[in-house]
Amino acid sequence: MTDISRIRNVAIAGGHHAGKTTLVEAILERCGAIARRGTVADGTTTTDHEPEAIEHARSTCVGFAHADTEDASLTLVDCPGYVDFFEEAKLALAAVDAVAIVIEPEPHKLAQVAPLIAEIEARRLPHLFIVNKLDRPDADFDATLDALQRTYGNHVVAEHLPFGTGDAFAGYVDLAERRALRFTPARDLEISLPPDLETRVDARRAQLLEALGDFDDRLFAELVEGIEPSLDEIRRDLCDECTHDQIVPVLAASALSARGIDAIVAAFVRWFPSPDVNPRIDAAGALVPPLPAGPVVAQICKTIVNPQSGKLSVVRVMRGTLGPDAPLENASQPGRRLRATGLFRLQGKRVEPIGEAGPGEIVALGRLDGAITGDTLATPSALVTMPTVACAEPVFAVAIRPRERLDEAKLTAMLDRLLEEDPALRVARAPLTNELHLLGAGEVHVATATERLARKYRLVLDTQDPAIAYRETIVRATESHARYKHQTGGHGQFADVRLRIEPRERGYGVGFSEAIVGGVVPRQFFAAVERGVRDALQSGPLAGAPVVDLHVTLVDGTYHAVDSSEAAFRTAAGMAIREGLPGAGPVVLEPLQHVETVAPHAYTSAIVALLSAKRAQILGFETTDGGADERVLALVPQAHLAHFCTELRTATQGLGRFHSTHERFEIASDTARA
Ligand code: GDP
Repeated sequence: MTDISRIRNVAIAGGHHAGKTTLVEAILERCGAIARRGTVADGTTTTDHEPEAIEHARSTCVGFAHADTEDASLTLVDCPGYVDFFEEAKLALAAVDAVAIVIEPEPHKLAQVAPLIAEIEARRLPHLFIVNKLDRPDADFDATLDALQRTYGNHVVAEHLPFGTGDAFAGYVDLAERRALRFTPARDLEISLPPDLETRVDARRAQLLEALGDFDDRLFAELVEGIEPSLDEIRRDLCDECTHDQIVPVLAASALSARGIDAIVAAFVRWFPSPDVNPRIDAAGALVPPLPAGPVVAQICKTIVNPQSGKLSVVRVMRGTLGPDAPLENASQPGRRLRATGLFRLQGKRVEPIGEAGPGEIVALGRLDGAITGDTLATPSALVTMPTVACAEPVFAVAIRPRERLDEAKLTAMLDRLLEEDPALRVARAPLTNELHLLGAGEVHVATATERLARKYRLVLDTQDPAIAYRETIVRATESHARYKHQTGGHGQFADVRLRIEPRERGYGVGFSEAIVGGVVPRQFFAAVERGVRDALQSGPLAGAPVVDLHVTLVDGTYHAVDSSEAAFRTAAGMAIREGLPGAGPVVLEPLQHVETVAPHAYTSAIVALLSAKRAQILGFETTDGGADERVLALVPQAHLAHFCTELRTATQGLGRFHSTHERFEIASDTARA
């Protein structure tokens, strides 16, 4: 078991393509955990091992890696940065004690990480920024730092000041210690401070000390009196204030050329807390002491299903000591006794068996049936539940069908496996069209899921945009008469009906009544007439869609004592409907969705333009509670919403969110010809 004070569990998160996977690789190599760095281009990195991730060169799920240094046992959780996989990253954040946010040295890309930072701030997770790709000729560390400070405040402070840009990115100044270090292949070497850097160093160092002083009265007083604080004091403040999420240091790196990596590892070890520093609180609000003895509490942060080797549940141990086959109970589904087969440490896709895992460790349990991501595992009789992270509602759907008919039988079981690995996915039967839908956080999320199904379970799905649940109705009242008469050898078939067909208000559905006087149609045939009417209304004359919002009255008819039957009246009623509808001003009704978008104010006009191009009716604008965002409310024909999540993200740099619900049906403007 690892000594808890040595453990650092760090999520490597940030924007898409910022270099997170490359950074993890560089850290692993630097710490001797892998012999040689893999590359994203070759698909040989430790944490991006899923074929879908390699093919599209983007992380599609969290990856776990481990490195031991002289001072620490480091578990890195590489979080996907692409917006579609945000839920996956959110679930993994429950396992870590701190986050390194990797960003590119381009201020305009900062907006991408706003939702991530909001999540991290809400959880009060200690974090720091790593400005990566400083080897690029256009890299601008200072402009990126200024933009960070403008957006997140002055407690975001540089701790490292890089010198030399592009290929000449040669080292950094440790601002706390006022030491210049030059990168070498072996380790960072101290050099004397280049004189041309002094002014920049003094200005940024003053910012750092002021930020530290905001949370330390003594240091603040020293600064006011012009006394230079001691190095110990600065180091202690950096550690305390970062650990308690009061200041957010900014570091400099080029992951691709492995520059700045020593300093990053040192920062994780020095400033990020071990798991005993900020102990966890359970769902009931009680402290969960991170003790190795006593009952076990562990929470599943990721489920990985491999069709060959089975299921792995990645857990963070909160308290107690986990063995490879300890009896456990699923505290989130009480009564479910579980026993794992094997305990492992993960190095990308490689699993290394271990004997036990203590509090704070992130490890994997083998073949744990009956538990899903987010569940808490505990020693039976001492059940404790950890808070869970709710996944956001899906915003994108495709209609799915197995390509091979034979696969129908295994569809449900395979979809269940898929959902077990990725709780942000949903499968649902659409009530209005009866199609089976696979829903997720965006087009890429759903496409990745179908690729995964094909690869892992050889289940190939045909997908298409969900069908729009059109309806038809009428705008004029009419009367329609039909007589069904048929002679077939023996006794014949006879029925004669006259129906009044009248439009009704939206949402009325289909109503039926009779107004027969004098028994011209006997009572026993009324139900058959109604059935014939309802059957015929299943398919309207314009689009073959169900006809609704009308009332049909049986007003007259005749019958034959021998030849009339229920079947004959049903047929006659259907004929009367089919013949009558074309003269009643038929129109197509299309479903309208109530759409609510939320995005920073700056994007409101782009959102209005996007909605207007979709024949939307804008209902209003509201400022959200925090005041930073604006909500736009609109009614939009569903036919225009199939790819709205992608369009909205494109229009808002990924910051726009939306929610939509079925509002009502309305006459489609191009069919309104009554
Ligand atoms: P992730 O999506 O954040 O995990 O980013 P990756 O690690 O997959 O990197 C995205 C792309 O950026 C890849 O083509 C990397 O080779 C490239 N990249 C990563 N780090 C650096 C860096 O420090 N400098 C440069 N120039 N490119 C980098």
